[in-house]
Amino acid sequence: MKNQRLNTRKKRGTKIWITLAVLFTILIGASLGALSAYNWSVDKAIQGLFYSSSNEPDKAAEEPADENNPANEPDDGNAEEEPPAENPPEPSDDELKEETPPVKEEEPLTPETVKEPTYVQGVLIANKEYPLPDDFAPGEDEEAKAAYMEMEKAAALEGFELVAFSTYRSYEYQDELYHRYVDEHGQEEADRFSAQPGYSEHQTGLGFDIGEVGQEAQWADDSFKDTEAAKWLADNAHHFGFILRYPPGKEDITGYQYESWHFRYLGEDLAVKVHNSGLTLEEYLNM
Ligand SMILES: [Zn+2]
Repeated sequence: MKNQRLNTRKKRGTKIWITLAVLFTILIGASLGALSAYNWSVDKAIQGLFYSSSNEPDKAAEEPADENNPANEPDDGNAEEEPPAENPPEPSDDELKEETPPVKEEEPLTPETVKEPTYVQGVLIANKEYPLPDDFAPGEDEEAKAAYMEMEKAAALEGFELVAFSTYRSYEYQDELYHRYVDEHGQEEADRFSAQPGYSEHQTGLGFDIGEVGQEAQWADDSFKDTEAAKWLADNAHHFGFILRYPPGKEDITGYQYESWHFRYLGEDLAVKVHNSGLTLEEYLNM
């Protein structure tokens, strides 16, 4: 009988242990299940286990909705897809490009606003883009005058009696001249053959209008181009440091129609280079 009791106790003890083991297993299983159901978020799993729908129905309903509601997916996606969201550097590049131009387009220079005459590669420039200061008054250039006298002598040997009928012109004189031309021809026409004050190469003291003595009708006139004197000048002036400044067909570059009588002193070296290049001064200087 004692043995039977002992056996019974042992059986009871074993039952208790088995029961405890089963309960423990169920508990662990439930925990793992809950964790996996809540994406291994311990906080959520605990919430799910202890605050079931009965306690906080709203919250319980919300949580799953957060994960399943497609409307919310973009939010999750956003966090991971930030690179695409950062793609807009392209627009910002454009913005940068747009910011560069705003550097104010400079107002065109005028004889009143320009402080110094413009030199390009050491060459004094006066054209429709680069005017001279209205108080720039160097007078006739002595070196240019001397070179012209040499040319005049050389021309005389060929039978041409040259005259420089207009060289240095002051701002004030050009102002007077230009407005006389405007009165006679209208501004549009005058602008094609006469510089506005401050824009004339004659104000540099380096521009020489050349014709023949006694042929006043051809001075500063298109008819001069057909004379032997004009042809000689076109072929030889560069040897004396002068270039034909406004050649035919280059009005869009120089700003002036063909002037067979207007020569610009550059010095012999540069004049020969420009002449041989076949380019206008603006083109030669890459202006
Ligand atoms: Zn001229």
